[in-house]
Amino acid sequence: MGGTFNPVHNAHLRVAEEVRETLGLEKVLFVPAGTPPLKSGAGLAPARKRLEMVRLAVAGNPFFEVSDLECRKSGPSYTVNTLEKLSDEYPDKRLYFITGADVFLDLHLWWRPERLIELADFAVVSRPGYPFAGILDSPFVLKDRWLANKKKELAALDEGKKAAVRLRLSGGRALHLLRVAPLGISAKHIRALLAAGRSARYLLPEHVLSFIIQNKIKF
Ligand code: ATP
Ligand code: MG
Repeated sequence: MGGTFNPVHNAHLRVAEEVRETLGLEKVLFVPAGTPPLKSGAGLAPARKRLEMVRLAVAGNPFFEVSDLECRKSGPSYTVNTLEKLSDEYPDKRLYFITGADVFLDLHLWWRPERLIELADFAVVSRPGYPFAGILDSPFVLKDRWLANKKKELAALDEGKKAAVRLRLSGGRALHLLRVAPLGISAKHIRALLAAGRSARYLLPEHVLSFIIQNKIKF
């Protein structure tokens, strides 16, 4: 699961937990981005601090791990490179890339997306405000003769009448669309609350919030 994690919050953790349980994953590896190519530097906490916050957040969950692959080097981090390294590191494991629906809809803006979708299966979770229906327009979804059926299934998923739909990525790998507990939490909202001097309690782990306050982290 990649992300800026600026800062990590409870929806990230809940998404990871639900995907792990639903797909029966051995572990979830959180990979905070070092220098995210699509997000400007302004308002971005230092990579080391974001990494530290993710470490604090996952402590205590034996299925969660954190990778500093992207944070320990300077320059932009590209998910393609990260997944290539992870494939080398875990040659006998099936990799899943976990994202929210918002991220999957922006995949065409990423570095080498057609390679990216060959390196992992995708687990794309629901996120309030980003209906799954739009996903069928993605160039990275395989269009086969079941398309009309899939349209109906995606509508059912958005309406909460279905929990999961399986599609195929255009390169042939699996695309799992999973409905998770709808949590209207975003790092952006947390940053805005903190900037306004308001409480962000219960939106992110207590230890992470204390870390932000004690280290006077400026977003
Ligand atoms: P920002 O507001 O700064 O973009 P964010 O809350 O979107 O922060 P990211 O670090 O950008 O967090 O996201 C990491 C991953 O977690 C992405 O794949 C994103 O779609 C997913 N994600 C974040 N928040 C939610 C949520 N509330 N529901 C579902 N998925 C989420
Ligand atoms: Mg985001």
